[in-house]
Amino acid sequence: MKEVYSGIFLIVEKAKFRPSDNIFVLAGINGIIFDSGYGNKKLVKQFLDEFQDIEEHYKKQNKEFKITRIIVSHAHSDHFSGLNAISSKLGLKIVLTKEIASKIKDEVSFNTSFQADDYEHNLRIKKNILRRIWQLIRNMGEGFLYKRIFGLSYINKPDKIVGENSEIIINGEKWRILSSPGHSPEHISLYNERKGVIFSGDNVLNMRSTWLGPPESNIEDYLGTIRQYQNLPKLELILPAHGDIIINPKETLSAILKRMKEREEQLLNAINHHSNKGLSPENLMKIIYPKEKRITTIIARDWVVLMLKNMEIKGIIRRQIKKKRILFFPIEKH
Ligand SMILES: [Zn+2]
Repeated sequence: MKEVYSGIFLIVEKAKFRPSDNIFVLAGINGIIFDSGYGNKKLVKQFLDEFQDIEEHYKKQNKEFKITRIIVSHAHSDHFSGLNAISSKLGLKIVLTKEIASKIKDEVSFNTSFQADDYEHNLRIKKNILRRIWQLIRNMGEGFLYKRIFGLSYINKPDKIVGENSEIIINGEKWRILSSPGHSPEHISLYNERKGVIFSGDNVLNMRSTWLGPPESNIEDYLGTIRQYQNLPKLELILPAHGDIIINPKETLSAILKRMKEREEQLLNAINHHSNKGLSPENLMKIIYPKEKRITTIIARDWVVLMLKNMEIKGIIRRQIKKKRILFFPIEKH
């Protein structure tokens, strides 16, 4: 564990085969844990050991240490799976927004949230076997595999429901629960104006882009969330759900917006350049990621499909189906 801000501790769950997960402990007289990481035994134990270190650290200084609640940023399995195990071991109340609670209440609700929409189905390459396996795993709601390896478990009855954009008192101080959709629709952040600190979940990561893809993500929502962060009255520290903490919020946020804009332009340029024959999503992938390895391509593909969806909705590009292939063309400005 590491104290990343006075009274805020970071515990990193070091998962195998998956990105490490950040869990934050807001220590004090009526504290809270933000995000719950993976739920498998080994990682929960690692978390509890480090949690105990924080407790001892407080006791040594004769400071009161009482954590009463746990809340999560969004309904992805790497962030809520530990809820049951951690809350029962530490006697914490589970606090969720209505939106998150409804997604993680049982397997059916969770799986439904990952089901591909029509748009996604239409654009998938049917022949790509790797893609199909990936889809199958996703459609199983990360089910069986995740239950075994990552300790996925559902919360059918949280102890308290809080509203998006409401306030919550943590250690005697007001924090705001910001609705921050984009990466996923139910995503929230936790913000304290006096400290200038925000827990950004998966929306902002240090030095790399977060995953954005169908059916969960929405680009316009995501841009709105990043702008909302930019417009906060005071922001000095971003505490993300993976990787290093962010001490230069302004630069990081504007770099995200810049990158998103550049990527859209890149796609649009390619489509404009091939306006006579049109481009399929596969063509676009080859143009934009000519040298990527396969697994990166899958993630990149999610991103490209999402971008195309957004550009089509915005009326910048249009599709045409030729011999069962979807091709994209620019829409000429008049
Ligand atoms: Zn996520």
